[in-house]
Amino acid sequence: MRIWKFAAMACLCCALLGGCGPSSDTKTAAESAAPAAQQEQVEMAVPEKGIPVLMYHMIGDVPDNDAVLLESHFREQMQFLKDNGFHPITLQQLHEYMTEGKAVPVKPVVLTFDDGYPDTYSIVMPIMKEFGFPCTVFIPTYDADQGTRLTWQQIQEMKDAGITIASHSYRHERLTELSAAAVEEDVQKSQAELKQRLGIDNEFFCYPYGRVNEAVEDVMKKHGIKLAVTMNPGWAKRGDNPYAVNRIWIGNAVDIGNFEQRVTTEQYEER
Ligand SMILES: [Zn+2]
Repeated sequence: MRIWKFAAMACLCCALLGGCGPSSDTKTAAESAAPAAQQEQVEMAVPEKGIPVLMYHMIGDVPDNDAVLLESHFREQMQFLKDNGFHPITLQQLHEYMTEGKAVPVKPVVLTFDDGYPDTYSIVMPIMKEFGFPCTVFIPTYDADQGTRLTWQQIQEMKDAGITIASHSYRHERLTELSAAAVEEDVQKSQAELKQRLGIDNEFFCYPYGRVNEAVEDVMKKHGIKLAVTMNPGWAKRGDNPYAVNRIWIGNAVDIGNFEQRVTTEQYEER
């Protein structure tokens, strides 16, 4: 699924038609208007062994911090996915696969970026555009416009570019250590901000520090969340609890050989 390509074609359609409707309409128009020969035929399947959901944080150069991935490593990984026929899919596609067993493009992978660092806008977005890959960015909404993280303007631009923007809570606190009322308030505020700032009825959540329990899960359900990701290692499988989705850590110690393991088998070497 070449979302960026469709987006470009949708813009062309908008220009020709003199107006822009909802993105789902324009995408359909773009698809039906495109000559069949130009459409990539992607084989679809329901992967038995699951789907790797990759977890990224900051992209940059901070020595001795494994969580901060060098841009050269990140680019090498995206090139590897492209060269080897992987198909990054959206969280929506992942949800439909997990809960309904819906088919996805072969060799699927999900790309997620936590915390809303400025490099998600300046480095990740251009690379996603270049490769035509969809991704999701999880924002602790309180941090936006605070100076060290993304601005709402940047987040809006990323959303407009087709990136899925979702909640990483309001204040990025360990939800399992808060009172039920405090969890409720935090999630409610984050949902309200995404709605107010971006017009999003948000359905996806990333637990701060990956922490979740039954009470937190109940709050998710109450506030319209249908899928939430953890930091538990492993792949996301059909029939798994969509409120406790596994993710694969990607840090600087993950060289390209180890990266290949992480997107091809659950039994990868720990780094
Ligand atoms: Zn975080």
